[in-house]
Amino acid sequence: MALTSKSPPVAALLNLDALHANLARVRALAPGARILAVIKADAYGHGLVRAAHALLGADGFAVARVEEGIRLRRAGIAHRVVVLQGYADREEFQAHLDHRLEPVIHSVAQAGMLAAHRGARIRPWIKLDTGMNRLGLTPQAFDHAVKRLTHLQPVLMTHLACADAPDAPATGRQLAAFEDATGSLEHPVSIANSAAILAWPQTHRDWVRPGLMLYGLSPFEGKTGAELGLRPVMTLKSRIIAVKVLQKGDSVGYGATWTAGRPTRLGVVAAGYGDGYPREVPPGTPVLIDDVRVPIIGRVSMDMLTVDLTDHPRAGPGSEVVLWGEGLPLETIARRARTIPYTLACGVTARVPRVETEGDYGASESRL
Ligand SMILES: *Cc1c(COP(=O)(O)O)cnc(C)c1O
Repeated sequence: MALTSKSPPVAALLNLDALHANLARVRALAPGARILAVIKADAYGHGLVRAAHALLGADGFAVARVEEGIRLRRAGIAHRVVVLQGYADREEFQAHLDHRLEPVIHSVAQAGMLAAHRGARIRPWIKLDTGMNRLGLTPQAFDHAVKRLTHLQPVLMTHLACADAPDAPATGRQLAAFEDATGSLEHPVSIANSAAILAWPQTHRDWVRPGLMLYGLSPFEGKTGAELGLRPVMTLKSRIIAVKVLQKGDSVGYGATWTAGRPTRLGVVAAGYGDGYPREVPPGTPVLIDDVRVPIIGRVSMDMLTVDLTDHPRAGPGSEVVLWGEGLPLETIARRARTIPYTLACGVTARVPRVETEGDYGASESRL
């Protein structure tokens, strides 16, 4: 979909077909597992309710917080909804009961509250800490909680710290600890995030919990989603709003950190860190204009960034600029900014309109 002169200066195009395709990719990778689609943090910046509606083919949804679960229910989502942090107090506990949300039980206090409530009809996910040392019960407390909550047919779960590192011994240790605690129990189990779905098939078990890969992004450093058979969902687009010619020796932007080594045709793009584009990228980081990679020069500012159009004379005011997505992997930009795809996707700011699209954007990738 093209930005027209009436379009906003920046837009995040969201390809819902790609979301479906990525869900199908998870199914193909883990055919025996049910899928808990992770849509926390506003579906990694893609929109909570939009993502849920596009992913109705999943078997359930996971969010981080109670409020997100309530939003799903108010939007008419009837699937199982798991709250990854569970409840922190009575009020949140009541919200779980009222909205049929399934809490992750990671503390003794949470387990006690649910066990003490007669007639509760919500299914808990009981979490064992196998070495990540973030949320989760110790083996003793886990054992105790499973016994007390068995009548609610819990799912038993853990979370891996190093699934994105295929050689890390930590994963084997975590899996062994999980097996020790759950091997003799009959309840369904859940271990795998995106990295584990892709790299550790033995973790698929009863429920997989994909997040990042649903959005077409790779959890592995140095790999893109496309290389893993995924399609990018978000394409962040802007346009050129001014062009000027610099003489050799002229500098560009805040701090005057970039100086023209030759006469330079400079383009000003109407997107900056106020939209969530990372300020940390060095000069030379590419944007895509008419399927041609063009380098950023100077520092990214709040509402604008500057590019070198000298070698792309066809580009001018109004030209469409892809900052990441179709044809220019978000992973490439994350790497340049020395961050991870998660933070860029989540970091697209509220002022950027999300525009739903479908289908293939055409051959932009193949023409590169
Ligand atoms: C966020 C999260 C996931 C999804 O992780 P991805 O790396 O995005 O696939 C799965 N499980 C838990 C407990 C999480 O917090």
